[in-house]
Parts: sequence; structure tokens; C-alpha cells
Amino acid sequence: MHKAQKKWGQNFLHDASIIQAIIDAVPTIDSGLYLEIGPGKGALTNLLAERDAPLLAYEIDPALFRSLDAQFKNHDTVHLTQGDFLSRDVDADIEAIGASNAPVHVVANLPYYITTPIIRRCLALTHIQTLTIMVQDEVAKRLAAVPGTKDYGALTVLTQYYATIDYLFTVPPHVFNPAPKVNSAVIQLTIKEERLLDSSLEERFEAFIHQCFGQKRKTLVNNLLPYYDQAKPLLVAYFLENDLNPQSRAEALHLNHLIKIFQKFDSLEHA
Ligand code: SAM
Repeated sequence: MHKAQKKWGQNFLHDASIIQAIIDAVPTIDSGLYLEIGPGKGALTNLLAERDAPLLAYEIDPALFRSLDAQFKNHDTVHLTQGDFLSRDVDADIEAIGASNAPVHVVANLPYYITTPIIRRCLALTHIQTLTIMVQDEVAKRLAAVPGTKDYGALTVLTQYYATIDYLFTVPPHVFNPAPKVNSAVIQLTIKEERLLDSSLEERFEAFIHQCFGQKRKTLVNNLLPYYDQAKPLLVAYFLENDLNPQSRAEALHLNHLIKIFQKFDSLEHA
């Protein structure tokens, strides 16, 4: 009997209806690849393997990996890898199984201790298309938040820059073994076909967004003043042009406004 390892965020799903609801939310694909992070005891993997598409799965726990390997040894479409997902060159692994150009659909009941790094890594994959993932409910609400709410922050903006986020359903602790202390939620990220910025600007945009949300209670002008001499006149002009309150905080502003404001500052700095 496998003892759940806390250090690897092991909370196994045992409720068949929740497992089925997650799988039902995963797009069915004609050509493409499923990528699972942390298959654990195979709750989601079993159902994904029934679909006629390649599945690439990463499990860090050697003991779980061994039993998964035995369980799926006769499934040609299932490719299991033992190790830390975050330290793998996933695009290279995809190429190695002959699926280089396949659209990638991520499915995972994520280990909560590394939720954000995993999402970021997945968003950077070359052919990523959707992520259907279980995360802590609090994180789900932050990711799917709309401007003007307390959950809206840098994480929201930086994720919504890449993807549209749908909050699918809340999941109570008792469907896991062991039960976590908090509610979870299943969300779906659908990658946007067009990015609003040139990829060469994305790193600077990310740093800018962190500056914008630096101190949540401060106005946007006050958060940006330490970095840009021109913060006040530039922002006041932008707010006036767009019928926005000059005392706005970053949390009041939609992604599109934050991008336009970034472009103004960036063109000044890198003129
Ligand atoms: N998918 C299974 C389920 O739904 O029952 C298990 C989910 S459990 C929340 C998270 C899984 O991720 C565990 O099996 C854990 O060992 C694995 N894991 C944790 N850190 C990992 C990492 N860095 N790379 C790959 N797998 C990891």
C-alpha cells in the first residue's frame, strides 16, 4: 500500500464521478497529444489512455512510477517518464515520441506546492493548446478573476495574457485521499491564438506588471513612480483619454489597458 508523500503534494482522487467530470472537460482530439503531470495511481490516466491519442505523463515518485509502468506496459500510446516535470525539456520529450507538431492538451490534478511554476512551464510549450487542471480553489479564483475584485492581481494578468480561463467547478476535500485542508477547483485554460505583444517584449511586460501590482493599496501612479520619472503625466493623460479615474489601482484595470500603458512606458524607456 503506497503511503501518500506530503513533500510531493500527493492527494489522490478516489471519487469516480469527479474523475469522470474532469475527463469529460478535456477536449477530445483528432490529432494531438495529452500531457499529464503527476499521474499518481492513474486515476485520470486510466480514462485518458482509453482515448485514441498519445499520452505523455511525468511522475516524480519512483514507487508510483513503477506501478504505473507495470499497469500501462501494454498501452502503446502511453509514454511514462519518471522525474521532476519542471526539470525536463518537455518539447524534446514530445519530439522523442514523434509528436513534434501535435497540439498539446495538459491534464493534471496538480501537486499544489508547485502549481504556478508548472502552469508557467506549460504556457511556454511550443504547441500548447489547453490545460484542464485541478488547483487550490483560492488559486483558481485568482486566475479567473475579473478587474475590480480582490482576487485580481499580477498572477491573473500574466496568465490571462496567454490564455482565457474558465472556472469549471469546485471540488470538496473529501474526494481526495488524503483530504487536503482546503477546497479545490477544476479550471480550463485555452491558449489565445494571438498574443497582444511581440514575444521579445514579454519579459519586460512581466516585470512591468509586477511593478504595477507592487503594493496593492497604492494607486498605479504611486506604484510606478519609483521606476519612471514620467509616471504621473503619462498615466494622467492615459486615464483622461480613456475615461478612467486618475486614482486607479492596477487591480481596476483590464489586461488591455495594462498592455497599452506598458507600451507607452516601454516606448519611452527604449526609444
Ligand atoms: N493524478 C493523481 C490523482 O489525481 O489522483 C495524483 C495527483 S497528486 C495531487 C499529484 C501528483 O504529482 C503525485 O502523484 C505526485 O507524486 C506528483 N508530482 C509531484 N511533484 C511532481 C513533479 N515535480 N513532477 C512530476 N510529478 C510530480
